[in-house]
Amino acid sequence: MSTRRKPVVYIVSAPSGSGKSTLVNVLLAMTPRLDFSISYTTRPPRGSEQNGKQYYFVVREEFEQMIAADEFLEHAFLYGKDYYGTARRFLREAEDKGNDLLLDIDVQGAAQIKKKLPDAVSIFVLPPDRKTLEWRLRKRGEDSEEVIDRRLDEARREIENYDKYDYILINDKLEESSDSLQAIVEAERLRQSGRPLSAEEKKIVDRADCHRLADARPRVVPILASFRTPLS
Ligand code: 5GP
Repeated sequence: MSTRRKPVVYIVSAPSGSGKSTLVNVLLAMTPRLDFSISYTTRPPRGSEQNGKQYYFVVREEFEQMIAADEFLEHAFLYGKDYYGTARRFLREAEDKGNDLLLDIDVQGAAQIKKKLPDAVSIFVLPPDRKTLEWRLRKRGEDSEEVIDRRLDEARREIENYDKYDYILINDKLEESSDSLQAIVEAERLRQSGRPLSAEEKKIVDRADCHRLADARPRVVPILASFRTPLS
């Protein structure tokens, strides 16, 4: 009988400009035995992005061949423009190494993964309010006014799906959010290990539990409201 440990699969989703990439990068640097699933996409590389690092950049034909060969655990066609997909092989490789796996994917992808892997742990990262997100997008200086408006609208639609996630992380102060994200990852490892916990470990679980959907819901309601009433 196999005693192989199943990887814990973590899904992180967030609207653009929520600070997700920074949180994910810190998490990966601080957490042993956590692999990142490098997605495939048909969108072209941006800035300093490199093939095989942030994404595998492929042409549409190749992506569609991979769909036909059932190579994806999930995939989505986003913004009416580009395919994004999680290759099955990353899950196999993580399992072979005895590691866990982190997916940075959108709301549709998260729903597909949850259906296939019900034990996957999903985390939604939120900006503290619409104004902060708008300010962060402007400060980044990457987008025109029109694109910023579109991103804010997309953010609202994504945030409407917050209650499909297990954990909610409101990214107000980066350092605090980063510690909380690490606590969530650690707490789920502890929980899925099924062993009794020390007092120190229980504290980690308590910190993570503050971000569970049921506890976080009252904090999300005003954020969502700030997105539903656009600034004039
Ligand atoms: P960007 O083009 O800005 O890198 O990413 C756009 C969106 O695609 C982000 O919300 C990101 O999480 C999502 N995404 C990246 N990889 C995947 C993937 O493999 N599957 C799905 N469903 N979404 C992805």
